[in-house]
Amino acid sequence: MSARILVVDDVPANVKLLEARLSAEYFDVMTAANGTEALAICARAECDIILLDVMMPDMDGFEVCRRLKNDPATHHIPVVMVTALDSPADRNRGLEAGADDFLTKPVSDVVLIARVRSLTRLKMMTDELRMRAITSLEIGMQAPERSAISDTGKGGRILLVDDRQSSYERLATILAAEHTIDVEPNPTEALFHAAEGNYDLLIVSLDLNNFDGLRLCSQARSLERTRHVPILAIADPENATRLLRGLEIGVNDYLLRPIDKIELLARARTQIRRRRYTDHLRDNVQNSIEMAITDALTGLHNRRYMESHLATLAEQAATRGKPLALMILDIDYFKSINDNYGHDAGDDVLREFAVRVRKSIRGIDLACRYGGEEFVIVMPETDLHVAGMVAERLRRSIAGEPFAIHKGTKRIEVTISIGLTTLEQKGEAVGDVLKRADTALYRAKHDGRNRVVSHAA
Ligand code: GH3
Ligand code: MG
Ligand code: MG
Repeated sequence: MSARILVVDDVPANVKLLEARLSAEYFDVMTAANGTEALAICARAECDIILLDVMMPDMDGFEVCRRLKNDPATHHIPVVMVTALDSPADRNRGLEAGADDFLTKPVSDVVLIARVRSLTRLKMMTDELRMRAITSLEIGMQAPERSAISDTGKGGRILLVDDRQSSYERLATILAAEHTIDVEPNPTEALFHAAEGNYDLLIVSLDLNNFDGLRLCSQARSLERTRHVPILAIADPENATRLLRGLEIGVNDYLLRPIDKIELLARARTQIRRRRYTDHLRDNVQNSIEMAITDALTGLHNRRYMESHLATLAEQAATRGKPLALMILDIDYFKSINDNYGHDAGDDVLREFAVRVRKSIRGIDLACRYGGEEFVIVMPETDLHVAGMVAERLRRSIAGEPFAIHKGTKRIEVTISIGLTTLEQKGEAVGDVLKRADTALYRAKHDGRNRVVSHAA
């Protein structure tokens, strides 16, 4: 899919010029003549990147940028300010407004396309993460946009790779005002250092002695541990063409020497903020995956996970000729715990029950909450005899120690019944195994509860 670029400028000739160049590179181009129009297009999520003119009547580019960056719905859209003046003060105003990048009029073709391509990659990745993270929002997790908007971008961990002492001393002093900074003057150590250090940002000099800084950037991009760490490249003006190459291989931003202090700080903050935002999105995705397979009350696996995983375990056991034991556990007279002490007390019992179950089983055993007060434990490489001992130990761990309820002010006796069986050696449908365990459980209940009944395959 080609990226949709929104060009915003009040001078039609400027719009036409950028539109023509971007279209020639197969980007989809949309245009707006003022800030209000631009905001409306962004609110409808119709564009991926914005090229934003600074000087416009009514609402200037800084204000448009500020509004986009303060709205959870649009804050992730990369904004490139297009300025007629290239003064550090101008750039810094834009960076303070949250701009991701700058282009100076007249805009050079090569720089324009390189920057737009690099931001497109970033936007696509963020979109993908946002889409997956939506599930986690639906189940009530905190929206990453909220913390992203209020994030100052300060307090990051930065690794600076630079072998010129006068240069790294100055840069480190500037950055130390807002961040924790480590300096690595030896480029051959840098990748290792970066992978070990859990950094929020790598700053890499491309003017290293006898070492290609771009190679380091490209290695950092392919290494799992550093793949998502943003890279800010620094180069002498005569190395500017290498910077463009850098953007192609995944460098996120760059600065030319002599380095302006305010701009360095602002660009570092932008990258760190972005890094935290995407990390947050990634965490949400990870959490929603975990939540989809976990029972919220007990932290054990849920029924859905057990059912899909049990089939795999059964198959493995059958092909390897190993035994597989399965037990169903059901709390005795649980309804009366709820009735006598309240639903919260019932929940306390379920939670504590899960804790005791976890203590009694091995890491390779699979424990899940199968229903309200019913649990299933699957034990690979375990025969009926050994499983019977585990079940008995479990039964005692429940009946032997009263359960605390009402914030520990009261203790009550709880017992469980367990139905136990194994998978047939030649393999069988897991539904049949569960049914057999259930029959055994029924007998345990019928015979007086607080007991284990085994049903051989
Ligand atoms: P038995 O010894 O025959 O198993 O009797 P029982 O009372 O344990 O079984 P029954 O199936 O009649 O009742 C189970 C109760 O568990 C009914 C339901 O309200 C309660 N329950 C199910 N899920 C939860 C839960 O998440 N929290 C609480 N507190 N109670 C639950
Ligand atoms: Mg019960
Ligand atoms: Mg029950």
